[in-house]
Amino acid sequence: MTQILEDVNAQLASKLKATLPSHIFDLLTSAAVQADKHGWQIYLVAGILRDSLLGIDVRDLDISVVGDALQIAEELARSSGFEFEVFGQFGTATLKRPGELNIDLVTARKESYPEPGALPVVETGNIYDDLARRDFSVNAMAVQFMSDRFGTLLDPHDGVGDLRTRRIRVLHNLSFRDDPTRIFRAVKLARRVGFSIEKQTLELILQAVRDGALYTVSMDRITREIILILGEPQADAMLWDLDRFGVLSAIHPLLSWPYEPGRIRPYQDDLLTPDERRDTYLAVLGAEMGSELDEAENMARWLKLPAPHARLMRDAARLGRLWPQFGEEQSRWEIYNLLRDLDVKALQVYARVEALQVDKFAWDKLILFLDTLRHIKPEIGGDYLESLGTRPGPIYGEVLAQLLEAKIEGRVPTRADEEKFVRERL
Ligand code: ATP
Ligand code: MG
Repeated sequence: MTQILEDVNAQLASKLKATLPSHIFDLLTSAAVQADKHGWQIYLVAGILRDSLLGIDVRDLDISVVGDALQIAEELARSSGFEFEVFGQFGTATLKRPGELNIDLVTARKESYPEPGALPVVETGNIYDDLARRDFSVNAMAVQFMSDRFGTLLDPHDGVGDLRTRRIRVLHNLSFRDDPTRIFRAVKLARRVGFSIEKQTLELILQAVRDGALYTVSMDRITREIILILGEPQADAMLWDLDRFGVLSAIHPLLSWPYEPGRIRPYQDDLLTPDERRDTYLAVLGAEMGSELDEAENMARWLKLPAPHARLMRDAARLGRLWPQFGEEQSRWEIYNLLRDLDVKALQVYARVEALQVDKFAWDKLILFLDTLRHIKPEIGGDYLESLGTRPGPIYGEVLAQLLEAKIEGRVPTRADEEKFVRERL
């Protein structure tokens, strides 16, 4: 074991040096110097250690301060030009700069859960306390940073062993009962890094779901986890897992993902931003709910989704219901009228669902509307009718509607055609 750890330590120090840009390394150095002046220590923890050891891209930098994280963050922000945000009651701070890794700093703490699903009671703790409160063994490792060098890896929960066997494992049996949002984190991390969920951990997930653990958490916190998942490149596989584990139906009886991984994915998924991907999945979920018209909207309200997301789900549901009609012959004007009142954003994200493109006849109509029909406007309007001496009234609306139809059907290509068309009808 010692031998293995020595290897890991040698690898880790060089991997961390290779991963961290030199100015971030300098920033850490000044953090360590500051901390030392106060008699505090700083540790690199969580994702960066896991991902460096796995040799995959690091997404952000988590630092645990045995001391006062807010004060260190403030001092660093002052000297580095990073922006500085503070979060909530737990003494966490984030340093941000566009185009850079986010740096999250937390004060090392000990947590206890007075009630299942409630927010924890927090007191300051040492680095081992801070690792013991974490979700999975592979996220519960730390390395001290001492201005010019890294300390040895602290791995009290055998995260290295689980990295080797590629497993997601909780630290204790009450983990999901204490914080059921960890169920979402387990599914997300397992798919993201291609690990399996260790057997006992999986049983604990299933048991927590059966025991109603999800009902102990506020919907806001659940929704936040779901939204994060929908932005992930393998969101479909994660939804599939959540469905299989009974999580989706526990959140809402109609929420489901019956598609095996790879069956329903956004078109050109790797080119999408997380927000674009999230919207596409919201549209699919909406369409999936669309058997009764109000269900998608009710579901969105139940999930406490913000209004634009709710509209997207509702209009995707409406489009889903219209979809079979697109298999029939239709004029351009009929297509226009079916789609004109739906949220364009919903149509755009719906069009991104790869599986729909198999149904090329229908899909072409959607694209025709999005790329062409919805932009068509006659050149003349009410002021032209007025210039002919027609008194404003319902006739305006009637004639202009006929004109729009003629324009969309391609019967009045030029302005002169439009004028002639209108004059004939007045
Ligand atoms: P990434 O940032 O790459 O998504 P990460 O593992 O760094 O992955 P974060 O969400 O940044 O994840 O959280 C940082 C660390 O905080 C985690 O690795 C974990 O140790 C701890 N953590 C986050 N959420 C929880 C939770 N609900 N319960 C216990 N520990 C958590
Ligand atoms: Mg992180």
